[in-house]
Amino acid sequence: MGLSAAFHLRRADPSLAVTVLERARIGSAASGASAAGVRVMGRDPAERRLALESLGRWPGLDRELEGKTGYQRGGGLRVALDDKTWEATPGWVAEQRADGVPLEVADAATARRLAPGIAPACLGGVYAPSTARPGPWPPSRPSPRPGDGSERAWKRAWARRS
Ligand SMILES: Cc1cc2nc3c(=O)[nH]c(=O)nc-3n(C[C@H](O)[C@H](O)[C@H](O)COP(=O)(O)OP(=O)(O)OC[C@H]3O[C@@H](n4cnc5c(N)ncnc54)[C@H](O)[C@@H]3O)c2cc1C
Repeated sequence: MGLSAAFHLRRADPSLAVTVLERARIGSAASGASAAGVRVMGRDPAERRLALESLGRWPGLDRELEGKTGYQRGGGLRVALDDKTWEATPGWVAEQRADGVPLEVADAATARRLAPGIAPACLGGVYAPSTARPGPWPPSRPSPRPGDGSERAWKRAWARRS
């Protein structure tokens, strides 16, 4: 957020001298630990407009930032592993679609086609073609510094992925 605010301030008025004050290192906290998913599906309703705005902006970011983000849309799938979740799926999807979130209900066969090897218990799911990720995975990892909180966050993020 800090770097983005600095970037937009300078862009709005190039004559401004902007200083970013950072306690540790850039990327040392949540931004350095993020799984880097660009996702609108399943966001809190209060975040949806912002997430949709962001989604529309990503494809042009390489040009805007004059650098390579490696942004690519691979789609995202959330699966239902029990009857209760599967029964709630149409309502969950309709509520988000009403706010403009592009989602598709995927039956069990479609979910298996999208994610071969998925658990036999999968009853179906919700597919978001817009879900994306910038950069190669895994991203370059900033070295954690004891006490700055990033070590714990990274361990959680990497444990989830492995
Ligand atoms: C494990 C994990 C996975 C995540 N995955 C995703 C994901 O897939 N998709 C997604 O959209 N979001 C994800 N997030 C959330 C996302 O990373 C955060 O919402 C986002 O990075 C927050 O950015 P920020 O700039 O607000 O905070 P930060 O990136 O935490 O930046 C705050 C900065 O302020 C500095 N600071 C703190 N106190 C001071 C001080 N007193 N003086 C000066 N500087 C100070 C810190 O050192 C830090 O660099 C994930 C978060 C985590 C932890």
